[in-house]
Amino acid sequence: MIRDNSRLAFARAKKLMPGGVNSPARAFGGVGGEPIFIARAEAASLFDLDGNRYLDYVLSWGPMILGHAHPKVLAALDAAMRKGTSFGAPTEAESELADLLIAAVPSIEKVRLVNSGTEAAMSAIRLARGCTGRPMIVKFAGNYHGHVDSLLVAAGSSAATLGVPNSPGVTEAVARETLLLEYNDVPSLEAAFDRHGPQIAGVIVEPVVGNMGCVVGKPEFLRALRDLTTRHRALLIFDEVMTGFRVALGGAQARFGVTPDLTTLGKIIGGGLPVGAYGGKAEIMDHVLPAGKVFQAGTLSGNPLATAAGIATLKILRDENPYPRLEQLSARLVAGLHAAAESAAVPHRIGACGSMLTFFFANEDVRDWPTASRSDTAAYAKYFWSLIDRNIYMPCSQFEALFLSTAHTEADIDATISAAREAFV
Ligand SMILES: *Cc1c(COP(=O)(O)O)cnc(C)c1O
Repeated sequence: MIRDNSRLAFARAKKLMPGGVNSPARAFGGVGGEPIFIARAEAASLFDLDGNRYLDYVLSWGPMILGHAHPKVLAALDAAMRKGTSFGAPTEAESELADLLIAAVPSIEKVRLVNSGTEAAMSAIRLARGCTGRPMIVKFAGNYHGHVDSLLVAAGSSAATLGVPNSPGVTEAVARETLLLEYNDVPSLEAAFDRHGPQIAGVIVEPVVGNMGCVVGKPEFLRALRDLTTRHRALLIFDEVMTGFRVALGGAQARFGVTPDLTTLGKIIGGGLPVGAYGGKAEIMDHVLPAGKVFQAGTLSGNPLATAAGIATLKILRDENPYPRLEQLSARLVAGLHAAAESAAVPHRIGACGSMLTFFFANEDVRDWPTASRSDTAAYAKYFWSLIDRNIYMPCSQFEALFLSTAHTEADIDATISAAREAFV
């Protein structure tokens, strides 16, 4: 497969942007080699600068659940654009998007729109601290909540100790206010609350993790999160930036019946434009300025284009309920990949929830970051490039989930399984 134009484009980009990209996951660091530059996309297909076509399982890392360039989303954008692209003043479209979010997501009574998932997480954490008057946040290894300083922490010396920075530029003072625990580990959560309970403002968690590969939160873990935060009067924050409108219309909280105090959203709710949101109980959200005193603002928040794409996307999801079909496609892919790997004797585990899943090259059950991190990343890299050569674009890291869209077909799934069968030998 010829990718000369991508190579040239990357050489140019490297001189202009750090690592040649505007977000590190795009640089293919997890699989080696150089990124593929995209010219355009349509439905379930990506087209690169050299005219190669790929079946897309990345979907902009989640947002494009209706596939690329969906005609109704484009029409909504076109109509909105002609009325002006930003006013910095209230619009009815913002209330329409807020209404759709509140109707779908059980925990959300009031919501604030922002511009990214990172911004949503940052704001939710400030709100948790602001309305409890407490400093500490609990997070889990392998969960990602955007590049918020206080959430870029690594483990200290033991499980229930305070975090240390895992990026230069994050200060120790900030990291010390974050407790890092292992995912799906109820005893260490109990120990953390025993030791630090009165200091804990909130717990932020991906109820289904996408960001160490797909790892599903165990029901008893989600229940313990709810019980312990309630008992210690800390806030439970579900980061549903990835799972919202993905694992169910109402996100993981609707799917599993556990209702957090605050929820962060992003990705799908912007229909491919930059949007985030955080919401929750009205009494909590009313601490946000100007109703309350917790500061949070944004020049382009509730932007007409992003709002239009979000509304169009969420209405289609609400009215057409594509979730049962997405689950069937996902189950077909899981079964096919499993059978192909079995017959090639490739050790593996598949983590899946709704239309997000990860094929782990793993010898043991994957339930947290230690088990995920022992996956064979070299085997994943080989699999990734074998699939690229067969025109299938998978996430460029073992530790990312793949996604399905309503534009994927059973024939696409079957072609992917055949390609994987060849890649495994
Ligand atoms: C993508 C993601 C974020 C960050 O969102 P951005 O829009 O990239 O800032 C936060 N949390 C989760 C769970 C995500 O998947």
